[in-house]
Amino acid sequence: MPRTVVIGGGIAGLTAAFRLHRECPDWPLTIVEEAGRLGGKIVTERVNGFVIEGGPDCFLAAKPAAVRLCRELGLEDRLQGTAPNGRRAYVMRRGKLHELPDGFTGLVPSRLWPLMKTPLLSPLGKLRMAVEGFVPALRVDQDESLASFVHRRLGVEAYERLLEPLLGGICAGRGDELSLGAIFPQLQRMEREHGSLSRAILAARKNRKHAVPVARGSTPPSAFLTLRNGLAEIVEKIHAGLSGANFRLGRRALRVRRRECGYSVDLDGGESLGAEALVLATPAHATANLLGDIDAETAGVLKEIPYASTSTVSLAFPRSVLRVPLTGSGYVVPRLEGRPVLGCTWTSTKFPHRSPEGSVLIRAFIGRAGEDHLGEAPDEQLLRWVKEELRSVLDLESEPSMMRIYRWPKGMPQYTLGHLGRVARVEQRLASHPGLFVAGSSYRGIGIPDCIDSGERAADQVREFLRQAHTAPVPQKETA
Ligand SMILES: Cc1cc2nc3c(=O)[nH]c(=O)nc-3n(C[C@H](O)[C@H](O)[C@H](O)COP(=O)(O)OP(=O)(O)OC[C@H]3O[C@@H](n4cnc5c(N)ncnc54)[C@H](O)[C@@H]3O)c2cc1C
Repeated sequence: MPRTVVIGGGIAGLTAAFRLHRECPDWPLTIVEEAGRLGGKIVTERVNGFVIEGGPDCFLAAKPAAVRLCRELGLEDRLQGTAPNGRRAYVMRRGKLHELPDGFTGLVPSRLWPLMKTPLLSPLGKLRMAVEGFVPALRVDQDESLASFVHRRLGVEAYERLLEPLLGGICAGRGDELSLGAIFPQLQRMEREHGSLSRAILAARKNRKHAVPVARGSTPPSAFLTLRNGLAEIVEKIHAGLSGANFRLGRRALRVRRRECGYSVDLDGGESLGAEALVLATPAHATANLLGDIDAETAGVLKEIPYASTSTVSLAFPRSVLRVPLTGSGYVVPRLEGRPVLGCTWTSTKFPHRSPEGSVLIRAFIGRAGEDHLGEAPDEQLLRWVKEELRSVLDLESEPSMMRIYRWPKGMPQYTLGHLGRVARVEQRLASHPGLFVAGSSYRGIGIPDCIDSGERAADQVREFLRQAHTAPVPQKETA
């Protein structure tokens, strides 16, 4: 039976393993994970009635892969949207919070008019946005930075005060370095197909008129979903579904070597695993180290993908100490404000079941591209920054009743200019290594649904490769 090894037990590697194991249960499968637990960036801690997420806390409902996987795992009933009063988001301007204009939540604007009323922009900034429809479309095929696109179409203010802080919340990135085509191809398409964002929005509105309307009085479905008891529910279910697989937890893969028939993976501690097929579901920098011996060129391209270091700090308080209500899901902070905290989530408003009655749970994010030292600061410093932030925004002086810090050094891949070209080069080079595939957030999407998609794709590639390898006619020995 052909053996497969999956390196990396984050959501991408687990999805690949789960799909392969479900479809080919007799094929031996080993999952190697450096940490002593599965899940990678997905970490849920359940303590004293709190559900604390150390990494992601929800996923986009519009991308179907995560909902589909939850359905396959029997978790559909456990899915939960954000509470209706936890759906509004805020943006900081000069230390004060202002509601994010309607139609702008997902970074791809669906309405422009509410922007005209926001105190986040000056009259001049609004005027600049209002003429968006007259800005000629750029019809060149080269990659453009997100900052350049928004400056060009909507003006500098719209970028600095709206788009940039939202971008920080999504991938902790710098808009002047990030690739529009890799992160928001929808924006590029809107301009290319309709000539302007405003015309694209109008066209989308016309199409929506033909869609089934949401019943009057009913709450529209949530754009974000999570699991009642934390995203680790997905990891736990997959783990249970992989009962026939072998695990090497707490074992680091050191290098991949070619063998006559497939590969061998050297682990720390001296063990070596043979594999006909291999899925590397590790961050690009780790994948580069694994591949260095067999393909220095691919390793070089993988090393060009930069990463940002971030930390999350979750604090709990008795509800009675709050002087200001926690409205909406939280807020994001533009770089311009010069604060170490780049945003806070009011977890207990967004997902009320995540804190016990009478308590609130708040989560702060620190560190972004170009400011990695902030995300890597010592615990006491992180805590001091978050307390200062809450004092200034909520007038909150009390000590937290509980706190948790999670660190993500080199944890956020940055899809900088030229990213799609780099990914294409990696994929092209991997075609010369039969049976070797990659998956995960480093390539074609950092969100959980994207990572699930990539894991499923890798599983399908392994299955096809092994089926073909094992049904191919056995070469006949030449006779003299
Ligand atoms: C703070 C934070 C908040 C986020 N919020 C959201 C959110 O709300 N919604 C959303 O959709 N996405 C969010 N994301 C992004 C999303 O969580 C990640 O992109 C996704 O979980 C990555 O999954 P992965 O499997 O690709 O990688 P990982 O989860 O990083 O898994 C890779 C695994 O490989 C292991 N590994 C590495 N090297 C080796 C080696 N040599 N040998 C063995 N094992 C190795 C690592 O230990 C790790 O477990 C967030 C990310 C962070 C950091």
